[in-house]
Amino acid sequence: MAGRAPFLPEKVARYIREHSVREPAVLRELREATKAVPMSGMQIGADQGQFMQLLVQAIGARRCLEIGTYTGYSALAVALALPEDGRLICCDISEEWTAVGKPFWKKAGVEKKIDLRIGPALETLKGLKGAFDFVFIDADKPNYLKYYEGCLPLVRKNGIIAIDNTLWSGAVADPSRKDADTVALRQFNDALHGDPRVALSMLPLGDGVTLALKV
Ligand code: SAH
Ligand code: CA
Repeated sequence: MAGRAPFLPEKVARYIREHSVREPAVLRELREATKAVPMSGMQIGADQGQFMQLLVQAIGARRCLEIGTYTGYSALAVALALPEDGRLICCDISEEWTAVGKPFWKKAGVEKKIDLRIGPALETLKGLKGAFDFVFIDADKPNYLKYYEGCLPLVRKNGIIAIDNTLWSGAVADPSRKDADTVALRQFNDALHGDPRVALSMLPLGDGVTLALKV
């Protein structure tokens, strides 16, 4: 896959790429530009971007929030799927990385839809008012539960929080892995498993995507 797909045999990933993915040129160009940026493996795959676009369209999302923007690929995918008056607030601590995405947001004609807030996302979250229709959580893993708890009250009923990397290349299922990110993701997954405030699905898409729908 263009991007990470640790749970798919390469043959199947290629099939999906060739028979389902419709990555627009501007997203492809941003993916190319990101290859020169450190940590480019953090970017979501084209299949996942397209899936998030479908979700946004399916629930008629207009107000969206992203925690962890990097070079702006997931943000651009979501912004492209929003109606003209749709808005996406993006939270990241890196001026440098988010600056890579800005020319592509502009080229795609969606820069007016995107409101980038530079600073620790937990601080930015405190100043936000709902209601959001769709949230994508993809920043530092040890803070995932705090991001989730901070976002849930801001999400409307039947709104969706999508959380990235919840399978962490399968490490969450490997008891010998005890590093901080893996432990945090396991705790996060267990907390959501028992959380009656949301309907839940954990997908082996990309590096694991959890969908939490607020009931
Ligand atoms: N969603 C992006 C990838 C995000 S990578 C994409 O698909 O392309 C994770 C991002 O989280 C990085 O850009 C990093 O700068 C950001 N981040 C890390 N700690 C953060 C914090 N405390 N607050 C906000 N953003 C943070
Ligand atoms: Ca990610």
